[in-house]
Amino acid sequence: MTRFAPSPTGFLHIGGARTALYNWLFARHHGGTFRLRIEDTDRARSTDAAIEAILTGLKWLELNWDGDAVSQFASSPRHREVAEELLARGRAYRCYASAEENAAAREEARAKGENFRGDLWRDRDASEAPAGVAPAIRLKMPREGETVINDLVQGPVTVQHKELDDMILLRSDGTPTYMMAVVVDDHDMGITHVIRGDDHLNNAFRQYQLFKAMDWEIPEFAHIPLIHGPDGKKLSKRHGALGVEAYEEMGFLPEAMRNYLLRLGWSHGDEEIIPTAKAIEWFNLESVGRGPARFDFDKLDSINAHYMRAKPADELYGLVKGLLATRIGHAPSADEEARILKAMPSLAERAKRLPELAEYASLFCNGEPKEPTESALAQLTAENKALLAELSTSLKTVENWSHDQIKEAVSVFAVAKELKLGKVMQPVRAAVTGGLPSGDLVDTLEILGREETLARLERSTA
Ligand code: GLU
Repeated sequence: MTRFAPSPTGFLHIGGARTALYNWLFARHHGGTFRLRIEDTDRARSTDAAIEAILTGLKWLELNWDGDAVSQFASSPRHREVAEELLARGRAYRCYASAEENAAAREEARAKGENFRGDLWRDRDASEAPAGVAPAIRLKMPREGETVINDLVQGPVTVQHKELDDMILLRSDGTPTYMMAVVVDDHDMGITHVIRGDDHLNNAFRQYQLFKAMDWEIPEFAHIPLIHGPDGKKLSKRHGALGVEAYEEMGFLPEAMRNYLLRLGWSHGDEEIIPTAKAIEWFNLESVGRGPARFDFDKLDSINAHYMRAKPADELYGLVKGLLATRIGHAPSADEEARILKAMPSLAERAKRLPELAEYASLFCNGEPKEPTESALAQLTAENKALLAELSTSLKTVENWSHDQIKEAVSVFAVAKELKLGKVMQPVRAAVTGGLPSGDLVDTLEILGREETLARLERSTA
């Protein structure tokens, strides 16, 4: 039983998405359960918009969770109950220290080169409690010895107990801390494997003590190294530290995203293309890398291109139809649609993302290309325009508008003009495609049809 436990304080970023994926794959591999818990105890920073973005992002990635998403805040009464129980067991105590007193003790500890332990009230009697002060509840941490956690990714990690402070479980206003809520919820939900970013490794030591104080079974921990930029530095927006929805907008496919995120920190030999069914079959925590993964847009592009090429033409068309309509300014006609479907395999060979594919597909719509490139325009010299006008006359007489007959007509024309075939084809390509990649030019002319081809030649010679 795994869980993804995001705090809804912002979008579902790429690191969170990878954590969700690893939890999902682990659960699916073992035939277990994958739960979603929204850690909304921080009321000031949690927003409904962030919750929505997380749910939408996970749905887009097709990481379906089991059961309903649960709200951590909704369990606050239960968190308070456990704090009371720890008090009753003598494993926690009430702390009446003011913020100033704690700050002074922290300063004192620092001056002595010691850790602040937050334990001003650990050994004091409740009878000394100042009147009218609401106490916080703190965990009595062990003082001697050490704890070793056998992290499933990091290996054995050790903490000396003297490093651990008597952490707050309930604040003086009665609200549970994150540390408290996570442990109680993980226990109550029956989580067996806690898989998350290694920025939580230090929390694990403290959470471990809380599980022990309650005599609860301690889950396995797996702390995954964080994602860095290609330069090895902390991931920034420029590197790809964006919300999942930004990747959808950039035109990546969810299956490509899953494959890429899987490979970002996990490997199976040299395999790069790992479709989800294989990922479920192969996923294990032992093969999660220990070093930080590096985010790399080029790799994501190449994986995305792979998944685009693998899709049937009509499915790809469905994915770009909306983008295409926006681009050309109208819903594609049945004619245009038929041409695009024919050209799709060749277009998909070249495009890396959906918007690029929509751009290439626009070539097969009437009245395009509307924005020829500089180099395409440079091809349309007066001399070439005259040539295209003459070629148009020949193309009008092609009996059967097929690849072979078009090719034949252009070749005969080139021989008659004593020109190499390329000399004729270059301006034709410029006029018809405006510089957009389109694969075999004769195929393009065939798919476009005689009428549209002649219309483009005519427009370019005007
Ligand atoms: N809510 C925490 C976060 O968003 C994760 C807690 C956990 O996975 O234990 O970073």
